[in-house]
Amino acid sequence: DLPPRHLSTTSGDYCTSNPPEVRRYLKTYGLTPPAIESFEVQTQRCLKLLAMKPTPIEKYQYLTHLRATNVHLFYRLLAENVKELTPLIYTPTVGEACVRWSEIFTQPEGLYLSYHDRGNLRQILDNWPHKVEITVLTDGSRILGLGDLGVNGMGIPVGKLALYTACAGIRPDATLPLTLDLGTNNKALIEDPLYMGSRMPKVSAEQEREFLDELMAALTDKWPEIVIQFEDFKNPFPALERYQNTYTMFNDDVQGTGAVIVGGFINAVKASGVPAKDHRAIFLGAGSAGVGVAKQIVEFFMKEGLTEEEARRKFWFVDSNGLVTLDRGDKLAEHKVYFARDDNNGRQYQSLSRLIDFVRPTILMGLSTIGGAFTREILQKMAQLNDKPIIFPLSNPSSKSECTFEEAVRNTEGRCLFASGSPFPSLEYGGKLLTPGQGNNMYVFPGIGLGAILSKAVSVTQDMIYASAEYLSTSLNKQEVADGWLYPDIRRIREVSVVVTRGVIRAAQQNGVDRALELRTLNDEQLDAFIKSRMYDPFNEKESIGDSVAQLMATASG
Ligand code: NAP
Ligand code: MN
Repeated sequence: DLPPRHLSTTSGDYCTSNPPEVRRYLKTYGLTPPAIESFEVQTQRCLKLLAMKPTPIEKYQYLTHLRATNVHLFYRLLAENVKELTPLIYTPTVGEACVRWSEIFTQPEGLYLSYHDRGNLRQILDNWPHKVEITVLTDGSRILGLGDLGVNGMGIPVGKLALYTACAGIRPDATLPLTLDLGTNNKALIEDPLYMGSRMPKVSAEQEREFLDELMAALTDKWPEIVIQFEDFKNPFPALERYQNTYTMFNDDVQGTGAVIVGGFINAVKASGVPAKDHRAIFLGAGSAGVGVAKQIVEFFMKEGLTEEEARRKFWFVDSNGLVTLDRGDKLAEHKVYFARDDNNGRQYQSLSRLIDFVRPTILMGLSTIGGAFTREILQKMAQLNDKPIIFPLSNPSSKSECTFEEAVRNTEGRCLFASGSPFPSLEYGGKLLTPGQGNNMYVFPGIGLGAILSKAVSVTQDMIYASAEYLSTSLNKQEVADGWLYPDIRRIREVSVVVTRGVIRAAQQNGVDRALELRTLNDEQLDAFIKSRMYDPFNEKESIGDSVAQLMATASG
């Protein structure tokens, strides 16, 4: 038997690049057109087929088909066109795919586990045909910004794992897209005759916890070194707190997001020329994202020599009730207390603009979901106060961004250090082409996953997450630094992932959570070489499955 690829064991059998001897061995000779095609020719056809599809969802469907029928070709195409194809296999197109999952479903691409299956989860895992190194799992309860989509959320684990493969070279057949069918509170889905999940309301938090307890134990029993990434849970914190010290797991929405912003932030602080101790930050928005990011920035300030107390006091948070202070008279949500100010001396918050006059910030962060909140006046104030103001409007999608790249550039005479959550186009300004930074999780989660896999970490520690941010900030090449970029070119993502992976492995070693002890003796160069040697490279899978066939044939005849 041939080693199975992806879900379909025939993926690649009909590849038009298979040489005659492989076709004879597979008994596909004559079933494929006669030409033995090069990858370049195959790519041309793929790109033309893509161009023929008028809508993003049709392009998505074509790419799904390609992955199922010729996995190496799919990843070659993706590797060479990462910037152009990512929006089609992940956000924003994957959002539409999830919304319409019941309509567009044609074939299984992952594993579904239902609440009714409890008690049998370990047994069902035996139906999965491959050894798994990493799983992305969701309960579909908060898919992107689209709400509760039940099992239609499967598009997210599928798409995200394709990015793990494309960006960090995790073998496609070592990934498990996993969707939990724990009911849905989306009435339209329950009434949709095409819906493929259980038609019952979402189970209680207590029931969900019991189910997850069984699942985590089952996954780790079946594959003892598995890395488990949680994604798009409505409330991510209970599972994160419950499992992060006992299983090799992390939550990308919380941890990856924080890390990627900190990675760009570290470069912004370096580029500002202002020492850490002289920075002051206003955060518009004190939700889980804002506070999560700020906590990781505290860690950075402490590594720059500040005490925790000094670092904590560099933040002023504004929420929908104004400046977050201890004397505001309302009961602060628990996560806001750490950064709440006690030095406002009874002064009342009036406006963001007045707060800027008072604080004189060097940094303005937006995680408020309020599009346009950074007005011309606000941006101009930041430009008056600072030589190089740090301005990060991070709310998604672009319609909710606190300002656009163009607004930030024009109102700061092009001096701002900018990163956003959503993409903005480059801009000609003052005779130069300025390119905005985008805090895209793709810069870190692939390396966090690969680092955890290769170090065989027993847990994913906060130091490993922080290391992903710190090493990301060092991954820019000379040109990118010279051009004032805060993040590297996404087209270099595989190189960047090697650096991030090394950082994650080193942190695992320092924390003593690694099980691959032999990696401890390697120096950085050797470790990078090891990481690269373990990365799936679709270009080296020469003639699709031809290599393994050739090997089998050699052993058979020898
Ligand atoms: P959230 O929990 O809803 O938090 C929103 C925060 O904004 C809350 O603190 C809210 O105040 C505050 N707010 C609402 N209206 C306001 C107003 N008029 N003035 C000042 N503050 C106001 O959301 P989240 O999960 O933290 O995410 C926030 C945003 O960040 C989202 O748009 C998300 O897409 C984005 N994000 C981006 C990235 C990235 O760039 N990679 C990562 C994560 C999140 P109350 O607390 O009083 O309600
Ligand atoms: Mn997410």
